[in-house]
Amino acid sequence: MQFKSIEPLRNFVIDMTRLVDATSTEAELLRKGRPLLETLISTDTWLPEFCAQPHADHYQQYLLHADPLERFSVVSFVWGPGQRTPVHNHTTWGLIGVLRGAEAGVRYQRNPDGTLSPCGEAIVLRAGHIDAVSPSIGDIHTVANALENMASISIHVYGGNIGGTSRHTFDPHTGEPKEFVSGYATDVVPNLWDRSRAIRPNAV
Ligand code: FE
Repeated sequence: MQFKSIEPLRNFVIDMTRLVDATSTEAELLRKGRPLLETLISTDTWLPEFCAQPHADHYQQYLLHADPLERFSVVSFVWGPGQRTPVHNHTTWGLIGVLRGAEAGVRYQRNPDGTLSPCGEAIVLRAGHIDAVSPSIGDIHTVANALENMASISIHVYGGNIGGTSRHTFDPHTGEPKEFVSGYATDVVPNLWDRSRAIRPNAV
């Protein structure tokens, strides 16, 4: 997809910052954050190329923005063909919007004996669709690229600095948790703040 302008991402970050300034209630953050993410993923001309690169062996998580107070973070997930997450949790609220391609998510529930089992079939999200996770609405799932022959990209916003958050993967057969911290694929983030093109539209 041809990159045109970072502006939609900048506007999303501004709107999310206003939202976390106004409320810390999870239900309200999910309800009011959803249309903001819908607007962001309604166009596909703002994601810098370096945040859209798949890796041959595993999915990638590129940090697009972290709130300075770590109240939220925005991440692009890039899924190569056949790539998937283990069963994992988040420990915070999250909104997941598909920008490009499609992804398949499966929710898990904990059984009385401590094991985990899927809550039904995988749900396929296509470009423009949004899902939500949180400890109160369901926090354990797997996500996979639903396409076998091309990369898919989804944009996630989480309540916290997700790449620096201690959380868990799970063995679904035993329910055994294993601590993990996902980190990010690169040390650089997109520059949201160079407004010179708007001020000097004819500048080279
Ligand atoms: Fe997840």
